[in-house]
Amino acid sequence: MKLVQARWYHQGRISPIRLIVVHSMEWVERPTTAEECAAMFARMNRQASAHACADSNSVVRCVRDQDTAWAAPGGNADGLQLELAGFARQTRAEWLDDYGQGLLGQAAGVIAGWCRAHKIPVKKLSRAELRAGKRGITSHADISAVYKRSDHSDPGTAFPWDVLLGRVRAELGGKDDGQADVDVPECKRRLSWPPTTKGDDVRTWQRQMRKRGWRLDVDGWYSGVDAEVCTAFQKEKGLLPTGVVDERTWRAAWTAPIT
Ligand SMILES: [Zn+2]
Repeated sequence: MKLVQARWYHQGRISPIRLIVVHSMEWVERPTTAEECAAMFARMNRQASAHACADSNSVVRCVRDQDTAWAAPGGNADGLQLELAGFARQTRAEWLDDYGQGLLGQAAGVIAGWCRAHKIPVKKLSRAELRAGKRGITSHADISAVYKRSDHSDPGTAFPWDVLLGRVRAELGGKDDGQADVDVPECKRRLSWPPTTKGDDVRTWQRQMRKRGWRLDVDGWYSGVDAEVCTAFQKEKGLLPTGVVDERTWRAAWTAPIT
């Protein structure tokens, strides 16, 4: 993520990070909206900023995580602020159009990184939970309602939280929280058939899949049976069912919940 430092922010924090606060920029959906918003934060006279701005194809960081952005009074000291291109008045269909799909993908990437780095659960907090000091994800609207220090209602009542949080969980390999990462062994190639991939990495994957309850031989030969297991596993986890153990499929064998 490139950094375009915002003009207004506090260096450091007075409270540990506990919240990810989602905003809509109230700014048109263009491929360059994140860059435009960041450029505005860098020079404007109005005292406002955010940690990151996202549009359909990129994210621009404006304030470092360890510093305090000025975006949602009441939720600034312990929050990470994310601005999304678009308007709070948008309908669900408008949030989920082609532009929105790109935007939610970019947003999910940032949020997953924050959840992992700061151990924040992938959970949209209720207002009661927000008030009680729980860790999680919230909106500017809920910060306004709970702390009563602003009247903003972004990102709006039709914002597709279910879709966004689903994408964040997928980014985190199906985990529901940003708790300690499991140790995933390294694999520098794809396992496929035909022709048969052979080696210790195949054995490592087969052993792991056996542990998860799949029926296959731990012989170090990636065969048609392994490709079938792989395809079934990919379907179960919402991955592209290719029968090829690529990086995501490999990782999911260790990180995805066993169902
Ligand atoms: Zn806002």
